[in-house]
This record gives sequence, structure tokens and C-alpha cells, in this order.
Amino acid sequence: MAKACKPLALRREGEGLLIEWDDGTRGYIPFAKLRQACPCASCAEERAKPPNPFRILSSRELAQTEPIRPKAMVPRGFYAYQIVWNDGHDTGIYTLEQLYQLGEKREDSDRQPDNTDRAATRETG
Ligand SMILES: [Zn+2]
Repeated sequence: MAKACKPLALRREGEGLLIEWDDGTRGYIPFAKLRQACPCASCAEERAKPPNPFRILSSRELAQTEPIRPKAMVPRGFYAYQIVWNDGHDTGIYTLEQLYQLGEKREDSDRQPDNTDRAATRETG
């Protein structure tokens, strides 16, 4: 793995997490995407199962009445955060590298999310 970046700032923005990294980039991770990427063993097992067409929503998803959100992010050592979700799930420990890779890169936090993908590929610096 490449040199690990460190987060300078983490904040909630809309329904996602905006992280400023020490290499000057910003990564935006929608909470739903962050939750789906949960690295814990039980979620990994859940993702590895073949899709069941008769179970469109898990019992957890059916029980969930509000949008998924982290209730807390607890630093674990110097390289990871444990995220406590509002659905009660709290066993996922996300490494900084994972958070960095999940982030949708933004060079300007004030820009609207639409069209940023195309703009980013055109950018020459
Ligand atoms: Zn999990």
C-alpha cells in the first residue's frame, strides 16, 4: 500500500461524510455507501452470499425507518475508525486507507455534486 494519508478534518455534509486529507484532497462518502462497505466479518459474509430474489430487503433494512447514519466514529489506534451506526451495528472498523479509497474525490467542497465526475477527468492542474 502507498503512504497512508491522514485525515485533517472529518465532517458531516448532507447524508455523507466529507474527509479532508493531508495530501490536499477531499473525499466524500455517502453514508449508505460507507455502511455497505462495512469491513466486519458478518457484513463480509452477507455480501458473499448469492442474492436471494425472495428477500429484496433484509429484516434490518425493513426495520430501518430513518436514513442510515453513523452515530459515532471512534478512533482505533492511529489508522482506523470504528463506526457506530444508527441501525445498531458497531463492529465495523474502517481503516484510513479504506476511507480514502471509498471517498469520491473533490477538490472543492463548495462545488455541487452533479457533473463533478466529468470535470475531474478534464482537470489538468
Ligand atoms: Zn458490518
